[in-house]
Amino acid sequence: MGMLFGGLGGGMWPGHINYGRVEDRPLLTRAKALRILGYFRPYWRNAALVLLCIATSSLLGLVPPLLVREAIDVAIPRGDGSLLNLLVLGMIVVPLLAGLVGVAQNYLNVQVGQRVMFDLRNQLYQHLQGMSLRFFTATRTGEMMSRLNNDVAGIQGTVTGTMVNVVTNAVTVTSTLVVIFSMDWRLSLLAVGILPLFILPTRRVGRLRHNLSRETHQQQAELSAHMQETLNISGYLLMKVFGRDQYETERFRQRSQTLMDLQVRQSMVGRWFFMTLGLFGAVGPALIYLVGGHLAIQQQLTVGTIVAFVAYLARLYGPVSALANVHVDFMAALALFDRIFHYLDMAPEIVDRPGALHLARAEGHLRFEGVSFSYGKGAPALEEISFEAQPGQLVALVGPSGAGKTTITYLIPRFYDPTAGAIFLDGHDLRELTLASLRSHIGMVTQEVYLFNATIRENLRYARPDATDADLVAACQAAHIHDFIASLPDGYDTPVGERGYRLSGGEKQRIAIARVILKDPRILILDEATSSLDSESEAHIQAALQPLLRGRTTIAIAHRLSTVLAADLILVLDR
Ligand code: ADP
Repeated sequence: MGMLFGGLGGGMWPGHINYGRVEDRPLLTRAKALRILGYFRPYWRNAALVLLCIATSSLLGLVPPLLVREAIDVAIPRGDGSLLNLLVLGMIVVPLLAGLVGVAQNYLNVQVGQRVMFDLRNQLYQHLQGMSLRFFTATRTGEMMSRLNNDVAGIQGTVTGTMVNVVTNAVTVTSTLVVIFSMDWRLSLLAVGILPLFILPTRRVGRLRHNLSRETHQQQAELSAHMQETLNISGYLLMKVFGRDQYETERFRQRSQTLMDLQVRQSMVGRWFFMTLGLFGAVGPALIYLVGGHLAIQQQLTVGTIVAFVAYLARLYGPVSALANVHVDFMAALALFDRIFHYLDMAPEIVDRPGALHLARAEGHLRFEGVSFSYGKGAPALEEISFEAQPGQLVALVGPSGAGKTTITYLIPRFYDPTAGAIFLDGHDLRELTLASLRSHIGMVTQEVYLFNATIRENLRYARPDATDADLVAACQAAHIHDFIASLPDGYDTPVGERGYRLSGGEKQRIAIARVILKDPRILILDEATSSLDSESEAHIQAALQPLLRGRTTIAIAHRLSTVLAADLILVLDR
């Protein structure tokens, strides 16, 4: 019996596919089909070989029952021992060959699947990287990770699972039908007549399992979101400070429990159906023996034909049941592509204009001309801002929280474009310059310093990969952080920990300053830390800022009187 329903195992239910919003009933349009095929096109040779392998092993599978028939009808009655030996040898060699072809097919298939996945993953990463800041402020990190991990990985399951499934089963069913009808049409009609008994219940169970699997994936996503939110530094601190560990543990337990229940149900659903199906599976051969046996008694059929026929039944019922459910997997695969395409189709908001100017050198002359900006439909964040900073000047932005200071600093590296008006660098509208050249002239020191979880050296080199060790030391000396780094047991090779948590706020600030000194940009954007540092750290930072500001056009969100007093221009923003 196991063999009969072999087609329902493994590949039919690729557990790692994230079913997500399948209820949207994804549609297969011609354009989408062509688009999906486009990803497979570079590997069409391998894909064609896979099809060839499938056809070969399916056809080889037709041979053993014929050998059995020969043995029963010819070799044994005639007492031809050597023919019998040959036939039995064939019964072993043919499945062996089919097995070898199967291995080759698997290898080729995984190659195609992995390469398509490789291409998609890289394309998606590059695309997401090109999205604007607006996209990242509006998108959940966890969701994006899920697209890159689960959805793309699901594609592999689709290729190895669904497509091979369809082709294998279709070839098997068709070839088997041809052979059995050519053997005896009466028995064939009987065999085909009981097929609906398999198809109908299987479809029902398929839908049930599909729904359960979708719920399981949602629960899994909830569980990982929960882990992601509570098992990181900020979440951990929040949880401990408010004494909510018990609460979180309990919430986690509940979600875990739901998931467990779902998974138990998922693996149990359809067991009763399959048991009934097993019964139907026994009815088929019994009917063949009954009708075939009577035909044999009337000398209209050989015994070998009956035995071969029953052997072919297994090649009919299993694949037909599998095909009956294939649309469920097909929909899931389509939904997967839909979700990935949805991301790929989002046009990046800020891109290089065709023929944009590559500004190799900049003086640092910056001018805002009637700049207005709004984040969305609400009140504009900036209205009619005009000012001019000569090369090397310091502009201090002051004003209450929410006045638009940060927004001004975002417009300079073109994280957003003005809604009206224009910004000029050395007389060029920013939108006329390539993003790469524009941003190469800009350095930023923000309040919240972001460091990668790597060594201090690697974090510094991020600003200039070709910087020598001497460059690093010089920059750190200028930023008044070298002595501190040198005093660490591992010096510049000290890991900074997740988001730099192993360093104090003042130390991180100074590393960030050293990083910008290394980059040596013409324009500096400085968001002064508001968090009160002890007077020694404060003094260090003030000292570090001196070489940073020298000779650069600086736009500073100023919180210190000293910065405001040193400014060439003070811009007071008010709502
Ligand atoms: P400041 O830096 O002066 O405190 P911001 O430039 O951060 O002010 O903010 C200006 C206004 O824009 C505020 O009213 C703020 O709520 C709004 N704002 C900031 N960022 C966004 C955003 N990503 N989406 C929508 N509104 C925003």
